[in-house]
Amino acid sequence: MVGGVPVGSLHPVVVQSMTNTDTADPASTAAQVASLAEAGSQLVRITVNNEAAAAAVPEIAARLADMGVVVPLIGDFHYNGHLLLPAFPEMARALAKYRINPGNVGSKRRDENFSTIARIAANNAKPVRIGVNWGSLDQDLLTQMMDANSRSEHPKEARDVYMEAMLESALRSAALAEECGVPHDAVIISAKVSGVPDLVEVYRRLSTRCDFPLHLGLTEAGMGSKGIVSSAAALAILLSEGIGDTIRVSLTPKPNGDRTEEVQIAQQILQSLELRRFNPQVTACPGCGRTTSTFFQHMAEDIQAYLTDQMPVWREKYPGVVDLKVAVMGCIVNGPGESKHANIGISLPGTAEDPKAPVYVDGKLLLTLKGEGIVPEFLQILEEYVERTYSSVSEPAPA
Ligand code: SF4
Repeated sequence: MVGGVPVGSLHPVVVQSMTNTDTADPASTAAQVASLAEAGSQLVRITVNNEAAAAAVPEIAARLADMGVVVPLIGDFHYNGHLLLPAFPEMARALAKYRINPGNVGSKRRDENFSTIARIAANNAKPVRIGVNWGSLDQDLLTQMMDANSRSEHPKEARDVYMEAMLESALRSAALAEECGVPHDAVIISAKVSGVPDLVEVYRRLSTRCDFPLHLGLTEAGMGSKGIVSSAAALAILLSEGIGDTIRVSLTPKPNGDRTEEVQIAQQILQSLELRRFNPQVTACPGCGRTTSTFFQHMAEDIQAYLTDQMPVWREKYPGVVDLKVAVMGCIVNGPGESKHANIGISLPGTAEDPKAPVYVDGKLLLTLKGEGIVPEFLQILEEYVERTYSSVSEPAPA
């Protein structure tokens, strides 16, 4: 459990995100946390990198409470968590979880510094995430393991030793956290790398060596389609094998870009794998030479935009509407068939086809639309379908 959000194999996979505002600026950080939470992030991580950031955390929590935003805040600590947490006890209480990178807690007093953080977590009844990252792996441990490997009769490949060092760092740190009083079920582990095959390999190994909940994410996934596709590829493999309890998609946004994109992508990964449902699913064909006008593309876009606009209201009013499947197809080749598989579907006329658009509801032909008003008429049918199908779910049974 992290701040009231259940985490673990018995619970749905949790979507997490991280702010990129200066934590020392409580107004902008609280605003971004609120927008991430509104987009569906169930946990939000903020960096706590210096005294000004540590001092701002209680105000961020207070501002969120004033806005009516309920979302657990996770503190991300590197290098100085053992100094900040004791010096700012209100900050330690305001956070719902502490992320500790065992590679970044100091080299001379690594265990001592780590233990200071873990004891504060235990005293405040906060879970910890042991977050190993191959960009900041414990260099002493790695050197020891590389040396031992080079002396062995059958040395492993360097990649293999690197992975084992990541696992060793995570599992040793988890054991130390437990020795410091953090309960076994309050430890979460991550071991992030930036390559898809490596990430899959590390987490497969990790999942066989411990029963801690695992936080998944491809670190430094990158920008745009590269970041999205790489994250989706890695997470899809692991999630479909039952590995992963919380996820984050670490996208690099465009300058002043929308930070909530990482939440939308994480949700879409879970929805595509049919692990969770967040929004109605629109199935649209890609179009081809049979759809020479852009009418079909505009219609698919208009329907998606309509669903997005309606969802804040529909989610409250019509429980179960997230299961809705809508098909928007470009011609008769696959249009009627795909429409029949959806709850509601429309098949537009392709080039040289009769200018009419059959609409299917629950697998049966309802009517055929024609003329300029196809889009608004279809949206009206869609609205009526949602009201008819999902409002009954929320109505109390007659007395
Ligand atoms: S359904 Fe028709 S328009 Fe759409 S991709 Fe297939 S053949 Fe092309």
